[in-house]
Amino acid sequence: MPRPILATIHTAALRHNLERARRAGGDARVWAVVKANAYGHGIERVFEGFRAADGFALLDLDEAQRVRQLGWRGPILLLEGVFALRDLELCSRLELWHTVHCTEQIDMLAAHKTNVPQRVFLKMNSGMNRLGFAPERYRSAWTRLNALPQVDEISLMTHFSDADGPRGVAQQMARFAAITRDLPGERSLCNSAALLRHAVDPMAAATDPQTLVVSDWVRPGIALYGSAPDYPQHTAAHWDLQPTMTLAAKIIAIQAIQTGGSVGYGSTFVADQPMRIGVVACGYADGYPRSCPTGTPVLVDGVPTRTLGRVSMDMIAVDLSDVPQAGMGSTATLWGRAANGAVLPIDAVAAMAGTVGYELMCALAQRVPVEVSE
Ligand SMILES: *Cc1c(COP(=O)(O)O)cnc(C)c1O
Repeated sequence: MPRPILATIHTAALRHNLERARRAGGDARVWAVVKANAYGHGIERVFEGFRAADGFALLDLDEAQRVRQLGWRGPILLLEGVFALRDLELCSRLELWHTVHCTEQIDMLAAHKTNVPQRVFLKMNSGMNRLGFAPERYRSAWTRLNALPQVDEISLMTHFSDADGPRGVAQQMARFAAITRDLPGERSLCNSAALLRHAVDPMAAATDPQTLVVSDWVRPGIALYGSAPDYPQHTAAHWDLQPTMTLAAKIIAIQAIQTGGSVGYGSTFVADQPMRIGVVACGYADGYPRSCPTGTPVLVDGVPTRTLGRVSMDMIAVDLSDVPQAGMGSTATLWGRAANGAVLPIDAVAAMAGTVGYELMCALAQRVPVEVSE
């Protein structure tokens, strides 16, 4: 028998979250962001749930190929664009749209031999300082692209650094709006946080440049996977997002410990009263963060309790003091949804590890078997 650990991908939740993002975006078309193998879920496993998306956005050409192999004929966008001239041939062959964020990528397009012009998204660095043309160089990049026979429609794009926090998007919006106001083309601005927190009523469009935030295409990632982009200010439940990944494992041993007994490597947890503890078949080699301290929330048979001591490679100890009915073979839900419907938000576990839901999803280990459910 394989180790009793399982990750479950919830197709109905993926569908629900996509619908939720669509509602937030008004009339905007929705890129389902599936980079990093669909945030660790597996592109092939989320495809059914994201069928209603208007397109798929990702980074790796290999992932783009996989989306085409699944039969997707609609738009695919390379969020970092191409990395080498020969990638443009694949863009032609697979009909990929691609981001243009630097001069070198324009040079590659100019050198590309093709009869079929390509759709590009020209990226402005409006303050994130990662990818894109500086505002003062954006229009000359646009003009140069627009003159190339290799280029079809040019869309305008930027990315927000603080959509999830107090700085917000206003400053970057103002920069973007000032430079692009009279340029033709579709716009794409919002990640999950911008979409949920800063989308504004399209009716206000005429007067308020903030309205551009929603624009023509939105690019939600994390929200589609049921994690709140601005946790702990808001929870996934607050945004009406459902968990799309459950990580669960069985209790494979029970220990009764006495007062003064310790648990796990380094004896970081010491009992101040007699306790019953369960040993769960999940450790950091499965993708559960080793940095989760004693007290990290966990569900046992759907009942909230906590971890005890250090996470080891293959096991974690959990407190069964308040779960007397639990025993050998009971199920521990490390994050996601338990059989009784109780939810342990991945964000709550990530916060205990000092990180975000994104990282936990992406780090789900290869050795964990994955099942897709409805
Ligand atoms: C990853 C990414 C997104 C999605 O971000 P989330 O925070 O997961 O919604 C959107 N746009 C770009 C350019 C990205 O790289």
